[in-house]
Amino acid sequence: MAREFRAAGHEIVEAADLADMAVVNTCTVTNEAAADSRSKIRQIARAGVAEIVATGCWATLQPRQAMDLPNVLRVVANDRKDQLVSEVLELPRESFELEPIAREPLPGLHRRTRAFIKVQDGCDNHCTFCVTTLARGEGRSRPVAEVVLDIQSALRGGAREVVLTGVHLGSWGQDLSPSLKAGSGKHLRDLIRTILRETDVPRLRLSSLEPWDLDAGFFSLWEDRRLMPHLHLPLQSGCESTLKRMARKTTPQTFRELVAAAREAIPDVAITTDVIAGFPGETDEEFAESLAFVRAMDFAGGHVFTYSPRPGTGAARMKGQVRPELRKKRNHILHAALEESAKAYRQKFVGRTLSVLWESTSETGEWGWRMEGLTGNYLRVTARTPSPRWNEIDEIRLINETEARLA
Ligand code: SF4
Repeated sequence: MAREFRAAGHEIVEAADLADMAVVNTCTVTNEAAADSRSKIRQIARAGVAEIVATGCWATLQPRQAMDLPNVLRVVANDRKDQLVSEVLELPRESFELEPIAREPLPGLHRRTRAFIKVQDGCDNHCTFCVTTLARGEGRSRPVAEVVLDIQSALRGGAREVVLTGVHLGSWGQDLSPSLKAGSGKHLRDLIRTILRETDVPRLRLSSLEPWDLDAGFFSLWEDRRLMPHLHLPLQSGCESTLKRMARKTTPQTFRELVAAAREAIPDVAITTDVIAGFPGETDEEFAESLAFVRAMDFAGGHVFTYSPRPGTGAARMKGQVRPELRKKRNHILHAALEESAKAYRQKFVGRTLSVLWESTSETGEWGWRMEGLTGNYLRVTARTPSPRWNEIDEIRLINETEARLA
């Protein structure tokens, strides 16, 4: 969107009080995310933006509520999001389909060194807690050639790292190949191979991947060192019966085997996860099973979501909803377990040399520059340097591990 607004002659500014118009991409994955989206719109209206366009999942599911928020003049549902800029500016769609222009980082404090390239949208699964399928519809993949062009324009715009994203990234290609059943279908591995072959991307990273989309052979792709050694594999629960109620297509056993295969194939790989605390019907025993599994997996980090019933989902109608205080308590316990294993993972790298892409820089007077960035295996690192190194990749020796980062 930023690219299209720029192509039409507009300027992207770094803060709401400098803007005439704002597009807010709302989220509804949890009740909290939906509330954050609403409060972001109110904040932007208070900062003086007279014209707000609301889009994204919350606005798609609750368009009337979105229109009622201050200064929201238009709601664009997800299925029209690709045309948002041309509709808002009342320009023909074709005017944006000419020469691809370089993707430049957005201005502001957190200037991006990473380009997030969406290669897929929607999902054909029906995990019972998930509202995404309602908001995003069926899985759709972007063609390889389009993704490669997008990556090349991101690289021309200065990006040093590309992150492939999608609502259900691991299903990329399934809808592109009607002959899938005959065994000749496209798989995410084909997309990754093509990107590595046809672009000079220095660092390629994958966002979240559902474990059932992968097999042990997938990890041989990491023989190319440009693929970053980080896998985010959402577990959601470490208890088999809870996973069944969630309608997840995985079991603790298959998850364990997949993680073992990844660790064998990719040296030092960081495996992070998502877990839900207090899913409907989660008994004390089930929670204990899930917690023990999470501990045994030695994750390099992860997010814990306190279960919140999303209207329209199967889980919201299930019996045995867990008391909110108990959900929160379980969240804290899981969070502490993940913190502990994340710390142990970070500590393994003290004294080692890893490459870091610096993504933020601030001047600290006589101390020179304070740099912050990420290693390939997603460790957050800080350093002081005599000159700014933003968007550079440096080999760095890690000397000490503090709260949530290495220095
Ligand atoms: S696979 Fe992911 S996006 Fe699809 S229904 Fe399950 S949680 Fe939602």
